Amino acid sequence: MTKTNANKIYEYIDEANWFLGEWVDYRRMCQTFSGIAREERQLLERINDELAGLVNRDRGSFSTVVVKYHSPLSYIQFVLDMINEAQATHFKVVSHKGAILITHHDKLKKIFFLSQQEISLNDFFGKEGEEVSVGDTILIATRNEGKTAEFRKLFDKLGYRVENLNDYPELPEVEERGTTFEENARLKAETISQQTGKMVLADDSGLEVDVLGGMPGVWSARFAGRGASDDENNIKLLHELAMVFDIKDRSAHFHTTLVVASPDRESLVVEADWPGYIAHEPKGENGFGYDPLFLVGETGKTSAELTLEEKNAQSHRAQAVQKLVEVFPAWQSKQS
Ligand code: IMP
Repeated sequence: MTKTNANKIYEYIDEANWFLGEWVDYRRMCQTFSGIAREERQLLERINDELAGLVNRDRGSFSTVVVKYHSPLSYIQFVLDMINEAQATHFKVVSHKGAILITHHDKLKKIFFLSQQEISLNDFFGKEGEEVSVGDTILIATRNEGKTAEFRKLFDKLGYRVENLNDYPELPEVEERGTTFEENARLKAETISQQTGKMVLADDSGLEVDVLGGMPGVWSARFAGRGASDDENNIKLLHELAMVFDIKDRSAHFHTTLVVASPDRESLVVEADWPGYIAHEPKGENGFGYDPLFLVGETGKTSAELTLEEKNAQSHRAQAVQKLVEVFPAWQSKQS
């Protein structure tokens, strides 16, 4: 047993799963399931047997308590994180056509099925003459690599390969012609999912100013006209608020809606707001869009005065991603 892991309690919790874990001497290894249905217990026991095969016994083993359980992938990822920390390994889990693949760097270490369902080899490995690409993918509906990187952090952990629209240069642009954030994000995610047959995540964000009845809202990027620059949009916003003097009357929030769509399935929608006020003049050099005018909560600082790390810890997008982390495993396992 490595010293660093002794006495450390690991925990994973989301809306539908709650696991605790401890690294123990191999002989003390045990699994506890409280209030978990018999069939699911049996499945968890099978998963534990498979994962135990990855453990170097000299270093002890994992013991877990499953308090709430919905997603086998989340549980496997949780145990792999413990194993990786104890053994300095890099095991990853990938789900592919109903099978669970455990990889280590570019090697396949284990493959097992969670259900009894059979699948043809051709379906599993791809058609003859085609490149075999293993792993279920999620396509992020953006060409922005920065945005993609944010989502990659989340979906790597859940066993997905992440792609973006730069991998599909032939796809036509989906025009944002909805009147709500959800309509736009849904339109993008569902259209691209239909076109590609993939699971697709799309987002739509913007600024809503209360005294302007929620404007610029879904028109945030083009408030001062199609192709307007950030500066032009900010000048237009200040102009619209020129007669609103009291800062309390200049309340606003940034909003993000995320939609995950999969062919022939009900989409998953999450959203989050970041409240604040519109300043009387721009301040700060960081960020983009309306950041120089957006006073964060009651702090008196604009979001352009925050570092990227500070903004990413609290923004509307960060909060929406956090919500997605909580609900995605349950939604995803409902699909299979
Ligand atoms: P998108 O949907 O993320 O492309 O955002 C649409 C528009 O909303 C952007 O062009 C910005 O004008 C505005 N916006 C969204 N998020 C932010 C933010 O975090 N800071 C500043 N402006 C934002």
